[in-house]
Amino acid sequence: MNDTMYCQGCGAPLQTTDERKIGYIPKITDRDDLMCRRCFKLRHYNVVESVSIHSDDYKNMVAEIRETNSLIIHLIDVFDVDSTLIESLPRFVGKNPIILVANKIDLLPKSTNLNRLKNWLRSVAKKAGLNVKEVYLTSAKKGHSLDELAKDMEQMRKGKDIYVTGVTNVGKSTFLNAFIQRSTGIKEAITTSYFPGTTLGFITIPLDDDAALIDTPGIMNEHQLAHYVSNQDLKKVIPNKEIKPRNYQLNENQSLFVGGLARLDFIKGDRQTFVCYFANDIPLHRTKADQADALYDRQLGELLSPPTAETIKELPKLVEHSFRIKEPYTDIVISGLGWFTIINGDVTVKIHSPKGIHVTLRKSILAK
Ligand code: GDP
Repeated sequence: MNDTMYCQGCGAPLQTTDERKIGYIPKITDRDDLMCRRCFKLRHYNVVESVSIHSDDYKNMVAEIRETNSLIIHLIDVFDVDSTLIESLPRFVGKNPIILVANKIDLLPKSTNLNRLKNWLRSVAKKAGLNVKEVYLTSAKKGHSLDELAKDMEQMRKGKDIYVTGVTNVGKSTFLNAFIQRSTGIKEAITTSYFPGTTLGFITIPLDDDAALIDTPGIMNEHQLAHYVSNQDLKKVIPNKEIKPRNYQLNENQSLFVGGLARLDFIKGDRQTFVCYFANDIPLHRTKADQADALYDRQLGELLSPPTAETIKELPKLVEHSFRIKEPYTDIVISGLGWFTIINGDVTVKIHSPKGIHVTLRKSILAK
């Protein structure tokens, strides 16, 4: 009785232990038409569910896309580009054209310069070796730009299949569900036609008689903040509505805490404004740089929160990154957490952030 059973929808080996992984089914019986919960929900309720896999399995799985003639949608989180852009994507998808969809645009302040943001995304993608055909800024949650994208996708696919790729939490299932909701034709097709999964763990959403939108499982990126903070803290840390910029006038030798998760030390430069873009629920706290260590030791989990007293143990040690910034309007981005905009430039700062989280610089994405 230890024979592995496979999902009749997507072909994944069925398992009863982890709801977030492919092939999950609450109970395995000896019926021969078993489907994993993800395929079941799609067939019966027209709903796509998030699943994820580890990177080694992912590589084997998506490498098959290279052999196809298809259109690739690569969904990323516009608030966390650094850890959601899959740099190795071209190796997996070969020469197939890539459309970059930066989701969760509703989180960015209204003052964001969308053209500049698109250009920046293009350059980041290029640097990572992704040759993207088009960049879209969407909100799967609010519906922003989805109609336009759906229309363009239909034109660009030229009758081919579309593969949707992305790391976990970028909003891939929200995006696909919004897409299905918008298109009654698709809803009908899911329940009436039977598209056997072509590849292990991929689920197919029929677009017409010949082609499908194919959902690939989300890969987990080890640098995503979600792996470093507790689920409880993540609710506070990941913004769920438009970020309100918070301005701080700082002098040399002052520090600014982002909850207990990060800290900026203003080492050198003239008094100036630091604009902080973090989830509105994370408290910011200013102190003297020479007292910051002691304050952290005393107040982590209390005044400096998240984390809370209970979740402190899950937070990695903070490590330091030093930057000498010449250009005005530079963003210091703490991956997944948010960023500081340096307005004047000509400063030296030190960032303390959880070990494993990337800290990078970019030109400000805000309108001047
Ligand atoms: P998946 O793991 O990529 O399938 O991601 P989900 O669709 O499960 O979404 C992950 C989280 O991001 C959920 O809390 C969603 O509500 C949220 N989310 C998805 N799309 C958007 C969006 O456009 N804007 C915002 N603010 N949140 C979103």
